[in-house]
Amino acid sequence: MKNATAPIDSLGRRINYLRLSVTDRCNLRCAYCMPAEGVPKRTHGDILRYEDLLRVSEAALTLGMEKIRVTGGEPLVRKGIVRFLERLSGLPGLKRLVLTTNGILLKDMAGGLKDAGVESLNISLDSLRPDTYSRITRGGDLRRVLEGIEAVERVGFPFVKINVVVLRGVNDDEAADFAALTLDRPYRVRFIEHMPTLPGDSRRNLTVPGEELLRKLSGRFRLLPVSREDLNGPASYYRIEGAVGMLGVITPVSCHFCGECNRIRVSSTGIARSCLFSGAGVDLKPFLEGGDDAALRCALRGVIEAKPERHFLCGDPEEKAPLPMSQVGG
Ligand code: SAM
Repeated sequence: MKNATAPIDSLGRRINYLRLSVTDRCNLRCAYCMPAEGVPKRTHGDILRYEDLLRVSEAALTLGMEKIRVTGGEPLVRKGIVRFLERLSGLPGLKRLVLTTNGILLKDMAGGLKDAGVESLNISLDSLRPDTYSRITRGGDLRRVLEGIEAVERVGFPFVKINVVVLRGVNDDEAADFAALTLDRPYRVRFIEHMPTLPGDSRRNLTVPGEELLRKLSGRFRLLPVSREDLNGPASYYRIEGAVGMLGVITPVSCHFCGECNRIRVSSTGIARSCLFSGAGVDLKPFLEGGDDAALRCALRGVIEAKPERHFLCGDPEEKAPLPMSQVGG
């Protein structure tokens, strides 16, 4: 079937971006992403098979989607992921295949990901200090991520995107060190506002508004705004005068970008959501089991049409998202 032009939701937003979670498992336990006690263990039967993930992707592409981001959990822990990506990248209509990872396994996998057709990687890295990194990730080894980043550069990805979730009193004092990485390297360091998603989380405690962060960085560096024309995604970008790379802020909490949101998500258990903060979602499994691709497309179209106008995190500072990110597929 021929691919259509990207679907438009009920508010006129063009929805052309699918975030596809391939697993809920992770080799880290980031304190802001997973509850300390972990998340309920899914059985293999609960998680969509690669065949099903490909069918969901095909349905989305047939509807007119153009970009797929593979995420998790940690996508690189799923067995057979590189072969899956290779098959995914060959689907008709796919213009951009990208992936988000914590980088722990990248050292040995970067070359395979490039060969499989992954265009760019977002690497999550919240601290440049081994002890803080280990504390945030509950045991992660910073050295492995840094080696992974080196491998990404070596195998020829054009740039490296580093995502830093800024946590007040934990790593916010490292913002200038992260920014300085862009001076002589083609990195795009993106500072993300922490979103309260776990029980007990509160925006009051941890979230550093993007504006506050930029003010601090401006005291240290001369920041020049970068036009958004050639860049996509929700980040506002700046370049330190004379720097090779860029830095950006992503402000889902203090200044939501729902009016420009172009994405839907499918979790590894087959739940499609049109917003990170939609509690419910539509279970695609019955459509996959039924083998009726037209019904599957129709279900996805329904998700797009029901996309809410905006999320609610910008209101009451005590509001939080209904599910930890590791389960939604961040
Ligand atoms: N394991 C992969 C990784 O670490 O990038 C992919 C999944 S992870 C859930 C995707 C992204 O969500 C990471 O950049 C992570 O930092 C971000 N994230 C998770 N919980 C968050 C929260 N409460 N607020 C802001 N970002 C969050």
